[in-house]
Amino acid sequence: MAQMVARCVGRAHLAPARELSLQDGPTELQEAGSSGRSRGSSKAVFQVLWEQGDQAVVVCDDAGRVRNANPVARQLLQLGGDHWRGSPLNDWLVLPEAAAHTETDFWRHVPDGDYGVRAAAATEGETGNTAAPTVSLRVCMGRHGSRPVPVILLGQPRDAVRLQQTVERLASYDSLTGLHNRDHFRHELARAMERARRSSKPMALFFLDLDRFKLINDSLGHGAGDQLLQKVAQLLTACLRGSDAVLVGPRTAAATLSRLGGDEFTIILEDVGGVDDAAIVARRLLEALSQPLDFMGEEIQVSTSIGISLYPMHDVDLDGMIRHADMAMYRSKALGRNTYSFFSDDLNAAVKVRLSLEGSLRRALERQEFQLFYQPKANLKSRHVTGCEALIRWHCPGRGMVPPDRFISVLEDTGLIVQAGAWVIREACAQMARWDALGLPPFSVAVNLSARQLRQAHLVALVRDSLEQAGIAPNRLELELTESLLMEDTEGNRAVLAAFAQLGVRLAIDDFGTGHSSLSYLRRLDVDTLKMDRSFVMQLPENPEDAAIATAVVALGKSLDIHVVAEGVETEAQARFLTGLGCHEMQGWLLCKALPADALTPWLQEQHNQFLRQQRPSGFQGLEVTELVDLDLSGMVKARP
Ligand code: C2E
Ligand code: MG
Ligand code: MG
Repeated sequence: MAQMVARCVGRAHLAPARELSLQDGPTELQEAGSSGRSRGSSKAVFQVLWEQGDQAVVVCDDAGRVRNANPVARQLLQLGGDHWRGSPLNDWLVLPEAAAHTETDFWRHVPDGDYGVRAAAATEGETGNTAAPTVSLRVCMGRHGSRPVPVILLGQPRDAVRLQQTVERLASYDSLTGLHNRDHFRHELARAMERARRSSKPMALFFLDLDRFKLINDSLGHGAGDQLLQKVAQLLTACLRGSDAVLVGPRTAAATLSRLGGDEFTIILEDVGGVDDAAIVARRLLEALSQPLDFMGEEIQVSTSIGISLYPMHDVDLDGMIRHADMAMYRSKALGRNTYSFFSDDLNAAVKVRLSLEGSLRRALERQEFQLFYQPKANLKSRHVTGCEALIRWHCPGRGMVPPDRFISVLEDTGLIVQAGAWVIREACAQMARWDALGLPPFSVAVNLSARQLRQAHLVALVRDSLEQAGIAPNRLELELTESLLMEDTEGNRAVLAAFAQLGVRLAIDDFGTGHSSLSYLRRLDVDTLKMDRSFVMQLPENPEDAAIATAVVALGKSLDIHVVAEGVETEAQARFLTGLGCHEMQGWLLCKALPADALTPWLQEQHNQFLRQQRPSGFQGLEVTELVDLDLSGMVKARP
């Protein structure tokens, strides 16, 4: 109501469309030139504006002295008591100079605009807040008898309104993409669930997570990552037709798109028929995102993994809906990404198992339930042992011995890998020292590193300290990294790897051939060893494709002067074929399975004794096994007297 009145009387001082007639307030209000019928209603409207509206109204005389002010204005200008009556408005508002000194037509010198409040400014100043509040001011003309009387309407300053709108926008929207943000998403989801409950029409929540977005962010930088997120937001918006309606079969459903942060997006799809409708939309989203994208002058392809929960079938609780969609999204990731999955009860069961696994692993670290097994490696030609790989095992009470494939990813996801990995490094170094003390030749031990460990602060210091404490030369420790880990070619990774090279620790690329390798980083990173993945060894020598790959890997190693180790060698035929290619070393069940240190020690001692027997009477026992392996001893034997 107040706004309606303000609209009809506003801006009158420039081109007065109509005049109000009044005395000291609303009581004498008359509309000049209007009929008796309209006079009464106009007065009534002004009465409401004066007493109940949220508009501040001040009535002045022609010289700008305050005659009356309604309750809102009195509060706004802090007009206490009665002494303000008859005082110039300039005492309360910072008005233009000319308006303060005029005796007539005061209103002509006060253009519409924002003005500072004096009383409030003083109070704010005392509290140390220097930003004086302002109010927007509009003058409209009333009259008292035949005299024109300015009526001042005060309100929130336009800038403040704009500021408030911006603040509200920021509070609800994601500044990068302009989509709803997490808070607003939750608010919208609660409302959508409530609408679904009342209308008994199901609602779907889609949880989207871009595939391998981290790789882009890490390799191309956060600026590029942000640009990609904006592109994805545009694609999704276009796919959902302006983000408020999407056609599901013959029907239209409301869709609300939000970005929760990072590369996580959500879509609330209301009034879906059920699973089939949601699946149609999911497929359309996957298709839209998988189109080649023009990005920074290059064509790239993004994909996303989608999880879907349905209301009320999967949950009736807001956090439950989000959690279930998130769980379904993880299933899509596990299924190989670029796909969608619905929440299901077995997923719930799987998550319960996973949560219990997490809890057990935390306890495992405290109770030291981990153990290292060691699997030897040998020179392919001579079959002499060159070193071991340390492989973690977990003796879980109630579960028996758990292989690493079952728990490494959980350790990584929970961050526990940092603690567990530190233990592996220290223990492997300590074991080398124990074998040294038994008189075994000083062979090397390889340790597997996870991506998360590489980002761990002080990793290099940890490795250095572990080596120093055990008294082990750095070149006897080899760190096995996977290709995908090295592809995260971040500055941080490069610095850590350079520090390892400086320390003298050896670097191996594990499971080589299964990830995306680039020849340039093999060179740049000073890699010492390539471990050819077991999958290429398994069907040697019969499978021609595997034979071609094995040949290429060995040739690559030779040309880059990198040692090649074949993993998972189980048969003599495989070993012979690899020896023929010129592959340097093998690891696998043909030689020995992974064993605990105390079980492996007699085997290592026996291997060493065999080696010594073979060398007798050369008498070069003092040499390192690795040196002997590649040494042509014939000349030296001949040289003996
Ligand atoms: P990996 O580093 O590639 O280790 C080789 C895996 O192949 C080991 O499995 C080993 O027991 C198995 N293997 C070796 N020779 C043969 C063979 O002839 N035939 C067959 N079928 N398998 C063979 P394991 O011990 O189960 O380890 C699996 C993976 O878990 C490792 O693969 C490694 O990626 C990871 N892992 C193990 N220990 C650690 C650790 O301490 N830290 C981290 N981050 N990862 C670890
Ligand atoms: Mg390994
Ligand atoms: Mg491997």
